[in-house]
Amino acid sequence: MFDQYIGISPKSDLILLQTLGEKLHKRTFLHINSTREGGGVAEILQRMIPMLGELGIQARWEVIEGDAKFFDITKKIHNAIQGNIEDITEEMWQHHYEINKKNAEKLNLEADAVLIHDPQPVPLIEFKKTGVWLWRCHIDVSSPQEEVCDYLTRYCRKYDAAIFSVAKFARAFPIDEFIVSPSIDPVSEKNKELTRDEIGSILEKFQITADRPIILQVSRFDRFKDPIGVIKAYRLVKKYNDCVLVLAGSPATDDPEGEKVLDEVREYAANDPDISILLLPPFSDRDINALQRSATVILQKSLREGFGLTVSEAMWKGKPVIGGAAGGIPLQIIHGVTGFLVYSVEGAAFRVRQLLNNPVMAEEMGEKAREHVRKNFLITRQMRDYLSVWYAMENKGRSILEL
Ligand code: UDP
Repeated sequence: MFDQYIGISPKSDLILLQTLGEKLHKRTFLHINSTREGGGVAEILQRMIPMLGELGIQARWEVIEGDAKFFDITKKIHNAIQGNIEDITEEMWQHHYEINKKNAEKLNLEADAVLIHDPQPVPLIEFKKTGVWLWRCHIDVSSPQEEVCDYLTRYCRKYDAAIFSVAKFARAFPIDEFIVSPSIDPVSEKNKELTRDEIGSILEKFQITADRPIILQVSRFDRFKDPIGVIKAYRLVKKYNDCVLVLAGSPATDDPEGEKVLDEVREYAANDPDISILLLPPFSDRDINALQRSATVILQKSLREGFGLTVSEAMWKGKPVIGGAAGGIPLQIIHGVTGFLVYSVEGAAFRVRQLLNNPVMAEEMGEKAREHVRKNFLITRQMRDYLSVWYAMENKGRSILEL
């Protein structure tokens, strides 16, 4: 399986990964999150768990279960961590804990290393048995509602270490902290090469004609992804450049707000025949791949963003991406080199027009974007980092050269 990455991933990543794989051979590595489908965390785990297995590590992926109230609460926690003001009562925190307790009774939590993703399953630390426990924060903690953050910290500080996607997200926890950015899999259905015919038939299925430039945003329908801002930017562009807009998204089982936001977006689009709002079923990887490959300019106009895998996905396809200057997006977009960072609707519209009017610049930017992703944001690098963190936690004080 790893042979597929030779010539794609940096060689140094593959060598280190193989060495770490030998060191951690047959050891157990448990990942826990709150959804199998939808969103970036599930996206990565779907690919990474089998790859860890190929490397000789006994990797497992468990998903916690909860009722509607639990997911309403955890979405509120998520929104508060990303800066909204939310009222999370003691009773709600208690429910959050109780649901985790029930999950702990059902799940096998024994492993040499346990990686808990995001706030939903964070209280599981109370039921730790063995191994190194790592809390992995995927969300944008740049300006959180402090009370909510403080409450969560009570759990976080009990972990052996915390992992953030972006250095500026790291909090002053009294535990070890690591920075590991997320990644995409270049050989997955979502990112592998497609033929012209394959792309053509997928566009046909969605009744999108490629006779005009396509502006695309792929995202869950979440206000932090600013789909309304994308429509506003498109409308400004449309005054001067003919183009179509595609907004593609699918629901995530741990995101109860999606439907409401989708309704708002539909209403705002007001039956504009040049706006396609595609509600995709889970696992529409090939369709998303084709949409990204057929777009002229790709937007990820997020207002808050943990990392924004869709940015690297688009960049890997050689596309110029215009991203909101939030969270992990500036790691991926080097302004003016691998894409453009924007701070407003007007800024986004200006950059879309600049790219539509300068196809050569757009192409060069796309090429640089792909190289930037190759060096920094492929799954082999992220696996290398996770295994390094685990190895480092078990071998504190030893130099990596002793590997
Ligand atoms: N995605 C998808 N279908 C959709 C919308 C998004 O498969 O309709 C995928 C997208 O391609 C990306 C992930 O979900 O791989 C979203 O990750 P990102 O980090 O961009 O955002 P998150 O949803 O985790 O906030």
